[in-house]
Amino acid sequence: MICGGIDVGGTKMEAQLFDEGMRLVTSRRSPTRHEDFDAFIAGLAEEARWLIAQSGRADLPIGIGLPGIVDPVSGASTASNIPTSGRDIAAALQASVGRSFVYGNDCASFALSEANGGAGEGFGCVVGLIIGTGVGAGISINGTTPPRHNQLAVEIGHVGVPARTLRRHGLPEWRCGCGRSACFEPYMSGKGIANLARWKLGQEVSAAEIAAHPRGGEVLDIWADVTAEALDTLQLLFDPDCITFGGGVSRLPDLAARLEQALLRLRLGTSRPPALRVARHGDSSGGRGMALIALRAASSPSA
Ligand SMILES: [Zn+2]
Repeated sequence: MICGGIDVGGTKMEAQLFDEGMRLVTSRRSPTRHEDFDAFIAGLAEEARWLIAQSGRADLPIGIGLPGIVDPVSGASTASNIPTSGRDIAAALQASVGRSFVYGNDCASFALSEANGGAGEGFGCVVGLIIGTGVGAGISINGTTPPRHNQLAVEIGHVGVPARTLRRHGLPEWRCGCGRSACFEPYMSGKGIANLARWKLGQEVSAAEIAAHPRGGEVLDIWADVTAEALDTLQLLFDPDCITFGGGVSRLPDLAARLEQALLRLRLGTSRPPALRVARHGDSSGGRGMALIALRAASSPSA
C-alpha cells in the first residue's frame, strides 16, 4: 500500500487506500460534518487516522482534495458547501493529527486521475468537470496538473449563466450557494435539476428520479442546454481535447450523447468540439488523483 487520498465533498467524504498499481485496496465513506469548522476538522482527522491505521504507515503519503479554493499563500479556504471559509484547514488538521498532508482542489485531482489511466488517458488537455452537490472543474495537461493548479480550481459553477440562455427558456435568476445569483451551479448541479423540475413541472423530482419521470425529458433538455453553455465556456477558454464528467449527475443515462448534441447546437463557427466522456474511476477518482499528487510530492519533495 503506497498512498491514500481523501475526497471531501459537500455531502460525504471518502478515504481511499491504493496499492503500487494505483488500484483501490480499501475505502470508507462518512458524511461531511457541517455543524461548524471544528466538527468538520474532527471528521476529516478521523478519516486521516483511519488511513494511517489501515496502511500501518505513519508517513503514508496522503492527499486531501477539497472543494473550492485554498489560497496558496495564506492557506485560507473559500468554499460554498463546507464550513471552512476563511479558515486554514492544513494548520487545523496538522494540530489534530500531528503530521502534515498534501492538499489540492477536488476537481483538479479528479482531472489528474482521469488523465492517468482513466477516461482522459491519451488526451493532451483534459478538463475534469464534477457535477454533484456543487459544480467545479479542474485541468490536467499531459498527465500532470499545471504548477499551482492542484490548488486552483476552474470555478465554472460560479460563472454566470449567459443572459441569452436564461432568456431562451424564460428562466428566472436563481440564488447560488456562493451568495450571488444566476451562477451555473443552481441550474446544473443535482439540486439544479430539482430546481428545474420544480420550476418546469411544478413537482419535486430529484436528479436521480428525473430520467424515469414521464416529463423528465423536458427538464433534461433545458438542463443539457444550460450545461452545454458551460461546456462551451470551457472550450472557448481552455480548448480541451477531452472533458470528463464526474459527480452524481454524471450517472444520468446517455449523458455524453445528450451533451454532445446540445454543444453542437451552440458551438462557435467550426470549432472542434472536445471529446465528452463519463469518468472511468467514478466516485473514487478525486481521492485517487489526490493520492497520486501526494505520492508524486513524496517522491520529489522539492517539486
Ligand atoms: Zn455561485
